[in-house]
Amino acid sequence: MRHRHIKRQTLLDSLQRKSEKCIECGLCRKECKFLQQYGTPKQIADSFDPSSSKDLKMPFECSLCGLCRAVCPVKINPAAMFLEMRREAIAQGVQLFPDYSIILNYEKRGTSKRYSYYALPENCDTVFFPGCTLAGTRHDKVKGIYEHLRKTIPQLGIVLDCCTKPSHDLGRESHLHSMFHEMENFLQRHGVKKILVACPSCYRVFKDYSEDLRVKTVYEHFAETSLPPSSNIPATITIHDPCSTRDEQQIHAAIRQLAESKLLTIDEMKYVGTKTLCCGEGGTVGCVNPDYSANWGIRRKEAAGKSRIITYCAGCANILGFVHPTSHIIDLFFDPQAALAGKTKIAKTPWTYLNRLLLKSYFKKRIDAAVSRERTFCGENTNKVAAFKPVVILFTLIAFIIVALIIAVRMSIAP
Ligand code: SF4
Ligand code: SF4
Ligand code: SF4
Repeated sequence: MRHRHIKRQTLLDSLQRKSEKCIECGLCRKECKFLQQYGTPKQIADSFDPSSSKDLKMPFECSLCGLCRAVCPVKINPAAMFLEMRREAIAQGVQLFPDYSIILNYEKRGTSKRYSYYALPENCDTVFFPGCTLAGTRHDKVKGIYEHLRKTIPQLGIVLDCCTKPSHDLGRESHLHSMFHEMENFLQRHGVKKILVACPSCYRVFKDYSEDLRVKTVYEHFAETSLPPSSNIPATITIHDPCSTRDEQQIHAAIRQLAESKLLTIDEMKYVGTKTLCCGEGGTVGCVNPDYSANWGIRRKEAAGKSRIITYCAGCANILGFVHPTSHIIDLFFDPQAALAGKTKIAKTPWTYLNRLLLKSYFKKRIDAAVSRERTFCGENTNKVAAFKPVVILFTLIAFIIVALIIAVRMSIAP
């Protein structure tokens, strides 16, 4: 009966599946603080009440990392249910966004006219999509990757934009769809067929939401071709696979191949590949439950022991870097000595925004673009609000003038 208030059929189906199939073996709970707090997926599905604001806020404490699915003996996907619950919360009008204003503003800037830039040379069918974080923290290395890719893909284009993964994770489904499909349509209209990404979150969004664009990581491309030249320094490291690549075994293999080609010895942790742990940033849980977020990082630190962690997600590198020596594999490609000594210079906010503008200006000069644009589309709902903005301002102004006139008339006729 509790479920009668649910608006979305996809959530109803998901709850029913968990309720029927979960055998409550407890394997997922053993791994996850969030489930230890709230119960087995079956208990959560059976008791979920969308008229309770507590229940609508609960799924925002799940990291959406998918470890529960990876360990489940009956192959059900609790993470998908928690994402559906987040979408339901948004559909029910839950106002959670003060907690997420920083991340949503970050996304908004990424897709804005000021920071976005698309440049497609003549006959371009492949673009490099570095994502926001790498472009801000390591803009020189983004240039280096682009230049190295151009040796094997001479007509390579560039897209500086945000994949809108934060909106995805926060359940803002319609915003994600309108932004992503506008970008996808633009690229397809101009002949782009393939996207090369450096960020696992971007990979996830393109893989899950694009119908026709093929997505591949630059790591797989480098494993098939070559790395930018730099020295090799033998050392022992361990690898953190970002949870966005959990099922992508070809990416895990490419990363290990590249690390070994740099003469690194890999001391694998217990939880890697399909059983990897979240770094703590998953699902932006840190905004609402910092303890759950920190717990993942502590588990990673304990598993890594004395080895430096190498990862291939700028978000993971950043958050794990607070608890353990960690490097992005891209730092290792360009300056292994600094990376292995923990001396890589990583830009921090607000310099990251300046770097993104510098990168944009670099590509404006570097690429002889047959097609280029800065993005002005900011989502269907946002556009409707934006369209009404001038009308609202005009009415406010008229109301203000009328009130001022009334006051003036009253004052002039007052005895
Ligand atoms: S997705 Fe991760 S955080 Fe969420 S329930 Fe599963 S294991 Fe726990
Ligand atoms: S691992 Fe699967 S079956 Fe076991 S409690 Fe978790 S969801 Fe249920
Ligand atoms: S930062 Fe990395 S591991 Fe964490 S959620 Fe994003 S992709 Fe997954």
